[in-house]
Formats: sequence, C-alpha cells, structure tokens
Amino acid sequence: MTEIIDGNAVAERIRSDLQDSIETLADEGVTPGLATVLMSDDPASETYVSMKQRDCEEVGINGIHVELDPDAPAQELYDTIDDLNADPEVHGILVQMPVVEQVDKRRVLRSVDPEKDVDGFHPENVGRLVAGNALYKPCTPHGIQKLLESADVETEGAEAVVVGRSDIVGKPMANLLVQKTPLGNATTTVCHSRTKDLEAHTSEADIVIAAAGVPEFITGDMLKEGAAVIDVGINRVDADNDKGYELIGDVEYDSAKEKAGAITPVPGGVGPMTRAMLLYNTVKAAGRQEDVSVELP
Ligand code: NAD
Repeated sequence: MTEIIDGNAVAERIRSDLQDSIETLADEGVTPGLATVLMSDDPASETYVSMKQRDCEEVGINGIHVELDPDAPAQELYDTIDDLNADPEVHGILVQMPVVEQVDKRRVLRSVDPEKDVDGFHPENVGRLVAGNALYKPCTPHGIQKLLESADVETEGAEAVVVGRSDIVGKPMANLLVQKTPLGNATTTVCHSRTKDLEAHTSEADIVIAAAGVPEFITGDMLKEGAAVIDVGINRVDADNDKGYELIGDVEYDSAKEKAGAITPVPGGVGPMTRAMLLYNTVKAAGRQEDVSVELP
C-alpha cells in the first residue's frame, strides 16, 4: 500500500508543538515577532505574505507586515531591513522574493542580520548549513526532512535524487541529505536542466525529491518500485473550474502513486510544511535572541 504523506497533518502537529514553546517564551515575557516585507505587486507574492501573516496570528507570533511601493527606490528596502534588524521586537525577517528589478537581491540577502534570517538565505547561514551547523535550515528542505521522518523513510544509506538545483530548494535539500545526521547520511545526486538522462537517476533512487517547476514531468515509469516521492512543484495550469486554474506538482501523481512506497500530494504535501517551518525558525530565533531555552519539535 502506498503511503500518502499528509503534509497538512504533519504541519498541524508541528504548529501545535510550537505552541508549547511559544508559551514558554510568554512566561518570560517574550512574544516572537516575524516581519514580512513585500515590495512587489505580484499577486502570488501578496498571497504568500498574507498566508504567512495569518499563520503567525494563529499560533501567537507577532506578525509585522511592511509593504513598500514596488516603484520606490531600492534604498527604501535596504533602510527598512536596517530598521527591522535594529528592532528588538522583531526576531525574524522575511523579504518576499522575487524582488523588483531595481533591487539587488544579493544585497538584500546579505543585509538581513544572520540571527534574524529565518529563511536561512544569508551567505553566512548558507555556509553554516553546508558546514553542518545551520542556525536556521531553509524552510522547504527542512519541512521535507520532517515529512520523510513522519513516514519513517530511512535516509541513511539511501540513494536520494534531488531534481532541481535552486538556492532555496534543490541545493539546501541536497546539503541536508548528505549531512552526517539522522535525517541525512543519504547518497545524494542532484539532477538539473542539463542532466543528460534524468530517468537513469530517478529509476535507481530510493528517494526522489522533485523541485524543477515542470508540471507532471516525473512519471511512474521513471521511478523505482517502493520509492519515497516528494513533490515540491507548484505549477499553475489552466482548468475548467471557478478559479480558471489548478495547482499541480512536478510529479504525475496517479502513475507515480502506483510505483511509490510513499508520496506527497499537491496541494497538501510540501506547501504546508514550508509555512510551518517558518514559524519554527521564528520561535527558534526568538529563543536565541532572548536567551530563553525553548524545545523545538
Ligand atoms: P527554480 O526555477 O529556481 O529552479 C528549478 C530547478 O529545476 C533548476 O535548478 C533547473 O535546473 C531544474 N530544472 C528545470 N527543468 C528541469 C528539467 N526538465 N529536468 C531537470 N531539472 C530541471 O525553482 P525553485 O524555486 O527551486 O522551485 C521549484 C518548484 O518548487 C516550483 O514549482 C516552485 O513553485 C515550487 N516550490 C514549492 C515550494 C513549496 O513550499 N511547496 C517552495 C519553493 C518552491
């Protein structure tokens, strides 16, 4: 029987466990604060930010939202980050990507105080992740580790294939899987757009993590029997429904489910975990900055 890995349920459990840590912080007079910064009129970015703010409200994190005119000079964003770095009520800062054209993305990533970098994208935190002592693991790959754990997928000694090499998913995912840690120790291959024979890799893999942003391009016949399949892709395709579109993954779910030992659906797989792990990192950040010891799930 294929296990359908329920990301909503795992995320809910993590959120509920985080509530205890938030109470511990409250006992010390601390409310974790997460600042989201939006400088874009992209509707998808607006939706992502409002979901993050709603998540904060639900668990008792103080959500601070800063919205900047997308046409404003880049300096306004850099100044905003400086102000948030200096604000003691803000423990985590998230600048919603992608940034508008006039903004230097690398400068933004460098400007967030590494202690408040709950995305884990500051070069110092990227280096720490590679070295095996991350302050904050990037939310999506960290959430995937939690999903694998929830389904009892053994990573140690497993052949893992990560499809995609982005800085936010593919690369940190591969870095986590090769760590000498309980949710690592996998023999990890990273495939990407220049990989010559993708199927040669996926068909040998015990774990396939698809993060390419190509709708349903991993099919059941590319998988090994019993593989764990994690679908990160969120692709908006036209559909005959009220919204006019639907969200589908990078994996062709029906054929993959026939082969897989465990699989995540889209939606309801990785997405909720990314959101939950942002709350996790914010609580961790508050504990670190306020010198309160908090247990994390
Ligand atoms: P990206 O566009 O930055 O990177 C995509 C990667 O896939 C690239 O490294 C590219 O080399 C590789 N790729 C592209 N086409 C390929 C092909 N045909 N074969 C093999 N590799 C190929 O994307 P990203 O930001 O890493 O996101 C990937 C997908 O995951 C997108 O659909 C995105 O919406 C989704 N995503 C979901 C979550 C979540 O929480 N569920 C979080 C982040 C991203």
